[in-house]
Amino acid sequence: AAKRSAGNDFVLYEPGLDSTTSTRKDTTAELAHAIEAGQLRTVYQPLIDLRTGRPVGAEALVRWQHPVDGLRTPDRFIDLAEETGLIIGIGEQVLNDACRQAARWVAESPDRDDLLVTVNLSARQVADDRIVDQVRAALAGSGLEPHRLILEITETVLMQDRETAAATLWLLKDLGVRIAIDDFGTGYSSLAYLRRFPIDMLKVAREFVDGLGRDAHDDVITRAIVELAGTLGLLTVAEGVETVQQSETVASLGCDIAQGFLFSRPVEADAASAIISASRIRGDLRALPAGMPR
Ligand code: C2E
Ligand code: MG
Ligand code: MG
Ligand code: MG
Repeated sequence: AAKRSAGNDFVLYEPGLDSTTSTRKDTTAELAHAIEAGQLRTVYQPLIDLRTGRPVGAEALVRWQHPVDGLRTPDRFIDLAEETGLIIGIGEQVLNDACRQAARWVAESPDRDDLLVTVNLSARQVADDRIVDQVRAALAGSGLEPHRLILEITETVLMQDRETAAATLWLLKDLGVRIAIDDFGTGYSSLAYLRRFPIDMLKVAREFVDGLGRDAHDDVITRAIVELAGTLGLLTVAEGVETVQQSETVASLGCDIAQGFLFSRPVEADAASAIISASRIRGDLRALPAGMPR
């Protein structure tokens, strides 16, 4: 953040812009290095079938294992990755990791035709030509059946650059993968888009699930989303389920799948595999909080 001006020894500080810019540059370089050095890892948060109580797979979520700071969550670096384009390489790694893991879960439980994995795609990834090849390569490299891979995008992705998004989603759909809308209800929703785009799943945003039973508004919205999804034949996932009451409410509303700290936090691949193959979560969901790993 310091500059030496020509001809004298004054050190000029431009605290606002300059320090921000240099921090940003440093962090960008650090992130680029982290990707090369293998510091980015993929963790998995189990998805629970609300009818059977069984884990049916997981959402893949990226983490940065920083050598000094420890584990960094995506809120610390995803926006920067998105702005700089580094998300393309990060996303490719997450896709490959997730497909390989899911193929392992299927190999361990060949009778389970419900097993799936979801992977987040950012706007930049959807706008990038390489995404279709990356997904195709991740499937080919892992042997994962395409329908078991669900790509999560947000409403914002659909609303920005609609033509490109539509074309890309249809190309992805042609590969046989499925598409989910993440954080549904928090963006600019145009319900018409649910028909125009090849959508298979809606993920009810955590902010609605959070207020269930406390905020009548959230009850109404969640019910409306689940009913809409049912009418359109889409799967529903309740995100951020933290309490038994929330789990029971979303189950009673007819939501298909739940995800949240009540069942498990995002965990390492091996821990996720153990949860997914265990199928101990069958039966009474009330029994969950005590028995489930956090
Ligand atoms: P998201 O896709 O909506 O992922 C769900 C986030 O909610 C995760 O945060 C997860 O840890 C958190 N979560 C799950 N259950 C609960 C709960 O019961 N309570 C609370 N308070 N939180 C819960 P995480 O892993 O920090 O990821 C944040 C966001 O970063 C993700 O939101 C997604 O938008 C983005 N992201 C994560 N991994 C990737 C990736 O590989 N690629 C891209 N493009 N974006 C990613
Ligand atoms: Mg997601
Ligand atoms: Mg989400
Ligand atoms: Mg999100």
